[in-house]
Amino acid sequence: MSGYERVYATLAAMYGLPTWRPGLPPMDELVSTILSQNTNDRNRDLAFERLQTRFGRDNWEEVRDAASEQVIEAIRPAGLAPQKGPRIQNALRQISQHRGQLSLDFLAGMPLEEAREWLTALPGVGPKTAAIVLLFALGQPAFPVDTHVHRVTGRLGWVPRTFSAEKAQVALEAAVPPDHFYALHINLIRHGRAVCLARRPRCGECALRPDCRYGLADGGRVDP
Ligand code: SF4
Repeated sequence: MSGYERVYATLAAMYGLPTWRPGLPPMDELVSTILSQNTNDRNRDLAFERLQTRFGRDNWEEVRDAASEQVIEAIRPAGLAPQKGPRIQNALRQISQHRGQLSLDFLAGMPLEEAREWLTALPGVGPKTAAIVLLFALGQPAFPVDTHVHRVTGRLGWVPRTFSAEKAQVALEAAVPPDHFYALHINLIRHGRAVCLARRPRCGECALRPDCRYGLADGGRVDP
């Protein structure tokens, strides 16, 4: 069993094995993920709900064509609203221009790398946002690297800790078995929140320690 598989199995034993189910439609996932940048899930969901209440459920045409101040006001709970509002509206405009409608369902029929390129060509959409849409909304084998996944995989020794999140995403997608992406992404986040904390990882009580470069090297006794 490889190190990836052992960690996958250990995390599944601790947190359960999440299995992919269709979540939000790809358009909703894209907007929700842009809202999630630099904030927590609660504020993201609040802003998303306010947007839907203000402009109508899945009525992305209304959001696209609204005065920017109205969108900024609706999404204020997500923070950075003056940046995120125009980012969302610009992405919606570009999708309309290229596709003639506001839907990303067509991405499901595209090869993965083509779909990723299409998404990252949208204004304000980076590799992580694209990977979230691909993985969660479309069930494609992409591996988004958020702050928890970045930290935990760096400590495990799966990627050099000097790697940026973007570089880590490329390296992890090449190394981790693709059928582990969904469950690993979710369980690494759970582990990052519960045990492998940013400031004081609880290595002494961590079941991943036998497979963790950082945990084996210093047991968390020094500042990571
Ligand atoms: S052993 Fe320590 S550094 Fe490694 S995953 Fe566990 S808590 Fe994180």
